[in-house]
Amino acid sequence: MDNKCRVITALSKDGGFRLLLVDSTNAVEKMRQLHITSKTMTAALGRSITACAIMGKMLKSEKSSVTLRIDGGGPAGRIVCVADCEGNVRGCADNPDVELEPNDQGKLDVGGAVGNNGSIYIVKDLGFGEPYVGYSPIVSGEIAEDITEYYTVSEQTPSVCALGVRVFPDGSCKAAGGYILQLMPDANEFITPILQANIDYMPSLSQLIADGTSLEEIAGMIFGLVEFNILEEGEFEYRCTCGKEKYAKALVGLGSDELRNMRDEGQPIEIVCQFCNTKYEFNTEELDELYQRAIARAEAAAAAAEDEEEE
Ligand SMILES: [Zn+2]
Repeated sequence: MDNKCRVITALSKDGGFRLLLVDSTNAVEKMRQLHITSKTMTAALGRSITACAIMGKMLKSEKSSVTLRIDGGGPAGRIVCVADCEGNVRGCADNPDVELEPNDQGKLDVGGAVGNNGSIYIVKDLGFGEPYVGYSPIVSGEIAEDITEYYTVSEQTPSVCALGVRVFPDGSCKAAGGYILQLMPDANEFITPILQANIDYMPSLSQLIADGTSLEEIAGMIFGLVEFNILEEGEFEYRCTCGKEKYAKALVGLGSDELRNMRDEGQPIEIVCQFCNTKYEFNTEELDELYQRAIARAEAAAAAAEDEEEE
């Protein structure tokens, strides 16, 4: 199923405010079908992959990726999402079928499912060097507030994040989207309250998307009388980038002792990708090959360590 989604980047004419805005309806529906999420978890994981897709669009360098991990201590368990600079996003939760009663406002209780006792972690792998790791405490578990807090606390970039997912009575995704509005270093502080008022008076984002409002029109509502330009238009989709070699490498990483035990048990092992449910089987011959690779790797590492000592 094609699940292409649109994203736009807009910048106020004075360069002070940057907006990344996405319609993630198709990606969230694809995610729901893959993970058979409950309504509450369609909203929780849907908001999370939407936020992660936006963060993926902020990446500039080739082969870069961003991982969003939300660990709020609630019944949903841990949520993990990954997006890359090529426009792929994927996500999973420990318990995708958790269903809760609607909250006090009659809405899907995302905060109740995620929990508010923990942290969100953002790992940016720029494709070279050590990955950048940032985190901040979870505020409400509603995710958008938590991302806003993250940017303000951990990256010192004052931001507003909004995320919304609407579901049909049958559970399928009716509309999903999100935005992150950021103050650039030279932002005019008098414009901030104007944009805040625009946002406060807007209908909810998922309502606008459900009504067929275009991303350009929504950007127009956020900026209001503040002039802006659309800088970029792009696409992304829910797509896993796994493959057998990726899991082979992970197995080699377990080390030779572990692999010898697996091989000697004489049974094939099966690994299921948590992001896309693809099954990968390794038979005993393949496990022996991986065992040899693990030995070779350990020997190479030992030789490298010895070289260093000699220097
Ligand atoms: Zn996969």
